[in-house]
Amino acid sequence: MTETYVCPHCGRTEERPYRVRLIILTCLDCGENGRFLHESIVNRLEEVPEAERPEEWGEMPLDERLGYAIREGLLDVSFTGAI
Ligand SMILES: [Zn+2]
Repeated sequence: MTETYVCPHCGRTEERPYRVRLIILTCLDCGENGRFLHESIVNRLEEVPEAERPEEWGEMPLDERLGYAIREGLLDVSFTGAI
Protein backbone atom coordinates (compact mmCIF):
# COMPACT_ATOMS: atom_id res chain seq x y z
CA MET A 1 0.00 0.00 0.00
CA THR A 2 1.51 3.33 -1.01
CA GLU A 3 0.40 6.90 -0.55
CA THR A 4 0.23 9.46 -3.35
CA TYR A 5 1.71 12.94 -3.15
CA VAL A 6 1.10 15.70 -5.68
CA CYS A 7 3.57 18.32 -6.93
CA PRO A 8 2.14 21.73 -5.97
CA HIS A 9 3.39 23.25 -9.22
CA CYS A 10 2.71 20.79 -12.01
CA GLY A 11 0.63 17.99 -10.52
CA ARG A 12 3.20 15.22 -10.95
CA THR A 13 2.52 12.46 -8.46
CA GLU A 14 4.98 10.51 -6.33
CA GLU A 15 4.32 7.33 -4.40
CA ARG A 16 5.66 6.77 -0.92
CA PRO A 17 5.13 3.92 1.53
CA TYR A 18 4.28 6.24 4.40
CA ARG A 19 1.38 8.60 5.11
CA VAL A 20 2.14 12.16 6.14
CA ARG A 21 0.59 15.53 5.34
CA LEU A 22 3.24 16.53 2.84
CA ILE A 23 6.74 15.77 1.69
CA ILE A 24 9.37 18.22 0.46
CA LEU A 25 11.32 17.30 -2.63
CA THR A 26 12.50 18.54 -5.98
CA CYS A 27 10.10 17.60 -8.74
CA LEU A 28 11.54 15.52 -11.57
CA ASP A 29 9.12 17.07 -14.06
CA CYS A 30 9.13 20.80 -13.37
CA GLY A 31 12.37 21.07 -11.39
CA GLU A 32 10.75 23.06 -8.60
CA ASN A 33 11.55 22.29 -5.00
CA GLY A 34 8.21 22.16 -3.31
CA ARG A 35 5.85 20.69 -0.81
CA PHE A 36 4.13 17.71 -2.36
CA LEU A 37 0.73 17.41 -0.69
CA HIS A 38 -0.95 14.15 0.15
CA GLU A 39 -3.67 13.55 -2.43
CA SER A 40 -6.38 13.54 0.22
CA ILE A 41 -5.44 17.13 1.06
CA VAL A 42 -5.44 18.10 -2.60
CA ASN A 43 -8.96 16.70 -2.84
CA ARG A 44 -10.03 18.74 0.17
CA LEU A 45 -9.01 21.94 -1.64
CA GLU A 46 -11.96 21.31 -3.96
CA GLU A 47 -14.23 21.97 -0.99
CA VAL A 48 -13.22 25.62 -0.83
CA PRO A 49 -16.26 27.43 -2.25
CA GLU A 50 -15.56 29.26 -5.48
CA ALA A 51 -16.92 32.47 -4.01
CA GLU A 52 -14.29 32.31 -1.29
CA ARG A 53 -11.35 31.73 -3.61
CA PRO A 54 -9.01 34.61 -4.46
CA GLU A 55 -8.83 35.67 -8.09
CA GLU A 56 -5.44 34.09 -8.55
CA TRP A 57 -6.54 30.75 -7.09
CA GLY A 58 -6.05 28.96 -10.40
CA GLU A 59 -2.44 30.09 -10.63
CA MET A 60 -1.52 29.42 -7.02
CA PRO A 61 0.58 26.34 -6.29
CA LEU A 62 -1.38 23.74 -4.34
CA ASP A 63 0.58 24.34 -1.14
CA GLU A 64 -0.22 28.05 -1.29
CA ARG A 65 -3.89 27.25 -1.80
CA LEU A 66 -3.78 25.08 1.29
CA GLY A 67 -2.07 27.82 3.30
CA TYR A 68 -4.64 30.33 2.14
CA ALA A 69 -7.57 28.06 2.96
CA ILE A 70 -6.24 27.42 6.45
CA ARG A 71 -5.48 31.09 7.14
CA GLU A 72 -8.92 32.15 5.96
CA GLY A 73 -10.68 29.41 7.87
CA LEU A 74 -12.15 27.96 4.67
CA LEU A 75 -11.21 24.39 5.44
CA ASP A 76 -11.82 22.41 8.57
CA VAL A 77 -8.25 21.36 9.14
CA SER A 78 -9.05 18.86 11.85
CA PHE A 79 -8.62 16.30 9.07
CA THR A 80 -4.89 16.82 9.30
CA GLY A 81 -4.92 14.95 12.56
CA ALA A 82 -5.86 11.81 10.68
CA ILE A 83 -2.88 12.05 8.37
ZN1 LIG B 1 6.35 19.50 -10.58
